[in-house]
Amino acid sequence: MTARKVRVRFAPSPTGPLHMGGVRTALYNYLFAKKHNGDFLIRVEDTDQTRYVPGAEAYIMEALTWCGMQADESTLVGGPHAPYRQSERKAIYRQYVDQLLANDKAYYAFDTSEELDRVRELSKAAGNAGWQYNHVTRSSMRNSLTLPKEETERLLESGEPFVVRIKLPRNEEVKFHDVIRGWVSVNTNHMDDKVLYKSDGMPTYHMANIVDDHLMEITHVIRGEEWLPSAPLHVLLYKYLDWECPIFAHLPLLLKPDGNGKLSKRDGDRLGFPVFPLEWTNPENGEVSSGYRERGFLPEAFINMLAFLGWNPGTSQELFSMSELIAAFDLERVGKAGAKYDFEKAKWFNQQYIKHLSHDAIGAILHAQATDAKINVSLEICVKAAPLVQERAVFTNELLEEGQYLFEAPTSFDEKTVTKKWNADSPAIIGELREAFEAIENWTSNEIEVVFKAFLNEKKMGFGQVGPLFRLTVTGKGAGASLFDICEIIGKEETLKRLKDSTATLATL
Ligand code: GLU
Repeated sequence: MTARKVRVRFAPSPTGPLHMGGVRTALYNYLFAKKHNGDFLIRVEDTDQTRYVPGAEAYIMEALTWCGMQADESTLVGGPHAPYRQSERKAIYRQYVDQLLANDKAYYAFDTSEELDRVRELSKAAGNAGWQYNHVTRSSMRNSLTLPKEETERLLESGEPFVVRIKLPRNEEVKFHDVIRGWVSVNTNHMDDKVLYKSDGMPTYHMANIVDDHLMEITHVIRGEEWLPSAPLHVLLYKYLDWECPIFAHLPLLLKPDGNGKLSKRDGDRLGFPVFPLEWTNPENGEVSSGYRERGFLPEAFINMLAFLGWNPGTSQELFSMSELIAAFDLERVGKAGAKYDFEKAKWFNQQYIKHLSHDAIGAILHAQATDAKINVSLEICVKAAPLVQERAVFTNELLEEGQYLFEAPTSFDEKTVTKKWNADSPAIIGELREAFEAIENWTSNEIEVVFKAFLNEKKMGFGQVGPLFRLTVTGKGAGASLFDICEIIGKEETLKRLKDSTATLATL
């Protein structure tokens, strides 16, 4: 027998922006698929139209693209099992619901929401918390198990609203193996007869999920721990439909930094960091939640950081490209315990990635940022500026800030340096330095340094006396990257101009 090709899916519901925990679920699916030369699918689970949020699906797809997770089959690229949006698959589900009904594994229920509310209240008043529609209570409700056959038929024909519920057996152990949790066993006495289908023709999540996973030939279901309680129901549905059950892997939760509870969508920016990959504007109230992209994270750093929230390679290596992650990833190394989120660590990852990017790549980012800020500078200069700015930046949007003085003459001057170093003699010193620089023909960092040192010698002054004044006039700052490199990048003309203009401005302070 040949092993089945690995096929996994990420199945988001477009009920809002994608939480970073969701991105991690997608990532583990993606890594697992690629590691096993399998397929990664994205299926949109939008059967619950009451929770539909406009823009959410597009947001989710954009976020996954930003993260570099290309789907083999999805709403965007299509595939042999299209459509990949459940609301467009509506016609597919009914036949499987009918099969369950015909085999006495499901039944029609006609109870109205008022009736259900009433029994819940009565039960609560009698001291029983959490009333459930189950193998015991169903015998006193309005359904095809309690009503005469003719009455059920009459109700269905007359267009009475109904739902179809799964008919769970009494006192049966449902046992399955989860790659991360090991053996899981639940007794049907602790489960309820979940709704599978509604008279508006829409299946619920459970039904649609099982039918689609089967039809789409999904071999492994890798999803968040919050779905673990639904897994026994899913196992039974596979059994009742006589289908092979996929292998389950329920991922540990992402926890708040203090370990106190799940990191939720509602945490938004409250804890000082984004919980969403991209910025999100709530279409209902216009509220904006920040995103890692806009905050200045590189997608590669974001992905590397997320991979480590719940998984580790078992070695001390921390920096992994996507292809290295694919090679190293293993579901067996995903832990059971919740993973505490650490924003400082996320920043560290980002800084490492910025540091290691090529000068061309940093130059391109810098050029785009400068263009956005309406600063006129060539790509060539931006590439030259890269080594000076990439050393210190933690976020990509600090690159321009870090290198602003490379593109524009300073308009303000570091106050501390001005107070400590700038005095009545300073304009003359800078004036003479400017003259010495004027004579330089080959304007390179080395040459500028040679001339500067010769100038110090000649004047019998130390670096500490002239260096800070020089930096102040060229950059406006008290510290920073090599001044000679800076002068080379901005060019001779601009350096001489700044030495002159800044001295004039400083004289007026
Ligand atoms: N639509 C579910 C969600 O939003 C998918 C759960 C699953 O992967 O089975 O998370």
